[in-house]
Amino acid sequence: MKYVSTRGEAPALSFEDTMLTGLAPDGGLYVPETVPVLSKGQIARMRLGSYEDAAYDVMAPFVGDTFSEDEFRELIAAAYEEFGHVARAPLKQIDSGLWLLELFHGPTLAFKDFAMQLIGQMFQAVLKRNGRRITIVGATSGDTGSAAIEAFRGLENVDVCILYPHGRVSEVQRRQMTTPVEANVHALAVDGTFDDCQRHLKDMFADHAFRDEVGLAAVNSINWARVMAQIVYYFTSAVSLGAPERRVSFTVPTGNFGDIYAGEIARRMGLPIDRLVVATNQNDILDRAFRDGEYRTGTVMPSISPSMDIQVSSNFERLLFDAYGRDGGAVAQLMQELRSEGGFTISQGAHEAICEHFSSGAVSEEETSARIAATLAESQELVCPHTAVGLEVARDHQDIAVPMIALATAHPAKFPDAVEAATEIRPPLPNRMADLYDRSERVSRVENDLGAIQGLIREKRAK
Ligand SMILES: *Cc1c(COP(=O)(O)O)cnc(C)c1O
Repeated sequence: MKYVSTRGEAPALSFEDTMLTGLAPDGGLYVPETVPVLSKGQIARMRLGSYEDAAYDVMAPFVGDTFSEDEFRELIAAAYEEFGHVARAPLKQIDSGLWLLELFHGPTLAFKDFAMQLIGQMFQAVLKRNGRRITIVGATSGDTGSAAIEAFRGLENVDVCILYPHGRVSEVQRRQMTTPVEANVHALAVDGTFDDCQRHLKDMFADHAFRDEVGLAAVNSINWARVMAQIVYYFTSAVSLGAPERRVSFTVPTGNFGDIYAGEIARRMGLPIDRLVVATNQNDILDRAFRDGEYRTGTVMPSISPSMDIQVSSNFERLLFDAYGRDGGAVAQLMQELRSEGGFTISQGAHEAICEHFSSGAVSEEETSARIAATLAESQELVCPHTAVGLEVARDHQDIAVPMIALATAHPAKFPDAVEAATEIRPPLPNRMADLYDRSERVSRVENDLGAIQGLIREKRAK
């Protein structure tokens, strides 16, 4: 399997190089040259096996010969063994025709663990084989950083340095980054904003001498391997509701469009998905794009579902590439317009192609809180604010003939303030991390300056 760039100007790469590279040199995102299709028999068989078995069947065509069958099965097993539920991604009915897909049983209580844990294992295997050592550097407003630290803690051949804005992440998020004891984990609290952290990260990647010196690598949301790992739970959940004989729909709380794009790939692999419903909070660039074909950036408004507070939805480029008939030149032109004019109009043909399978909705802050309260009242379930955004939109798109699966992307205890404000109940952490507030923290505070941050990274990885 080869991977090509959405902007059409970068050489095709193997899975291994795609995973290690992340962003394509022409600025595009890597996508598989062709999408493998699973037979009805292969899909139906997933009903009998474990999550890990399904994960192997879904992902094996994408990784090709990067790993032997035994090796890949071992990596998958290691990735998910720490999850707090045997089903890994259990499905729970909360109303007639409506199910919650619980994606928060991983070590950091959010769905990003599904991809990060596997990426950690795959990076480790490839680096060992090549005798390389790398430094993963990431910038986070909360969830991604803790998921990356959990995935790479204690692995050989990798140091992981996460920049976060000092004083601007939640206490749970901060503690998840500062309490791991492994020597290869380094939390850096920057005296600045999340945007400052992201800018420093970009500048580090542009500094080729530094990049080579420390073996800089990233695992941000545009990495194809992250999308790939997220395809699996679309299959396991649909199959448990009767696929491939029965159709299902999904509603996905969406920010960077990575999670729902994995659903689109599942559909193209042969899973009978009726609708893929995009749910956004008040940062509704995607809802507007789906409704009227206008993709225009605004200013980010902080919300109670912060992991969806985005201005540009990076993985949307992958969907555009398909909608434009895989014309990399056309995508490059749209992205140029986005940079110079702050937006673009999707062509009529591409917009119609997109709307064939996707629907969308946007939810206000008040509606989000009200849905958290209503879900508790009606179904005795505490849900996180991101999940509530999805549930609110899902209710508008239910069709009595088709089961609706709403993705529960984080555990309510990860966003205790918003949940408590809506319900007067403070959700407790699961038992296995109940001592999070007692563990000692280890963090390096650093001034908002690229040189100071680079110096600290050099020093940390040398130890
Ligand atoms: C990252 C995140 C999202 C958004 O996922 P995308 O792949 O960026 O669309 C939604 N909910 C939670 C809890 C998240 O951490």
